[in-house]
Amino acid sequence: MGRDAHRTRTTGVSLMSVLGENPRAGRGAQRGAGRYAPSPSGDLHLGNLRTALLAWAYARKSGRDFYLRVEDLDERSRPEHEASQLRDLEAIGLDWDGSIMRQSERLDFYEGIFEQLRGRGQLYECYCTRKELAQVASAPHRPPGSYPGTCRNLTEAEREAGRAKLAATNRGPALRLLTDVSELAVTDENYGDYTGGVDDLVIRRGDGVYSYNFVSVVDDGEMGVDQIVRGDDLLPSVPRQVYLQRVLGYETPKYAHVPLVLNAQGVRLAKRDGAVTLGRLREYGWSAADVVELLAGSLGYKDVRSVAELLEVFDPARLQSAEAREPWKVDVDTLGLGPDSHLGN
Ligand SMILES: [Zn+2]
Repeated sequence: MGRDAHRTRTTGVSLMSVLGENPRAGRGAQRGAGRYAPSPSGDLHLGNLRTALLAWAYARKSGRDFYLRVEDLDERSRPEHEASQLRDLEAIGLDWDGSIMRQSERLDFYEGIFEQLRGRGQLYECYCTRKELAQVASAPHRPPGSYPGTCRNLTEAEREAGRAKLAATNRGPALRLLTDVSELAVTDENYGDYTGGVDDLVIRRGDGVYSYNFVSVVDDGEMGVDQIVRGDDLLPSVPRQVYLQRVLGYETPKYAHVPLVLNAQGVRLAKRDGAVTLGRLREYGWSAADVVELLAGSLGYKDVRSVAELLEVFDPARLQSAEAREPWKVDVDTLGLGPDSHLGN
């Protein structure tokens, strides 16, 4: 697999030689690939399972490979959560190609790309504290959460002062990408054209952890992922990620964002909603096939009880309608009454 070849790369090569060669060597070169990339910080709930099922169906229906990537750089990541997530994905019938990629095992590789970006003068240090960023983020005439470039053009004396300020709180500076656009137009298969802000995004956080945007763009590029299906809460991050892909020399994949799942109160589904994980649903009499039927039903496919059956009828174009872009609302309380209360039989 291309992935294994990439592991042998050293950090001594130039960025152009890393990025100039085709990152899609291997099986993905002919077929392309989709992926699901969970963070192992808890059990998967129905919303996660639905997105995973869709990512798998999009990939398989289009003849692509399907990869599983564990995004475990966050301090809340636990191996036991990874194990339970993989168990649940297998239980509903999903399969994936190759070995599972864990970001925690790729730190040397990220460092190599990071150092080359820094060597090209494309990164700068940011000394802003979380509080300072919260204040500028709420300033008028600015897209929410965007960074105004406070630390972009500091003198060396100001940088020294910034480092000293952070050292007193046991943090280092974050490293941001020096960007030269403020917004970018992108295309999503379900949402059409989308224009969003691009700021000087964080590449490495002040605590030394590489940012989500950086590692996910690098991994997708290196794995040959050319189709990204994920929750539509991530749509606003696409312009930033596409910009970073161009800086790093990766091709832009096809994006298809899918709606989130909400509880009866209209709030994004979360584990604390109760009987929304496979484990909890089992306690109320739900089998894995029942859960597949529930998820397939939410996509408009009736009496589908396995992922193989779903694949036969699955049509990605149906997710492009305005109706299909509405969130799926789940009445969690009635899930506890068992599958008969939800499934049409
Ligand atoms: Zn700053």
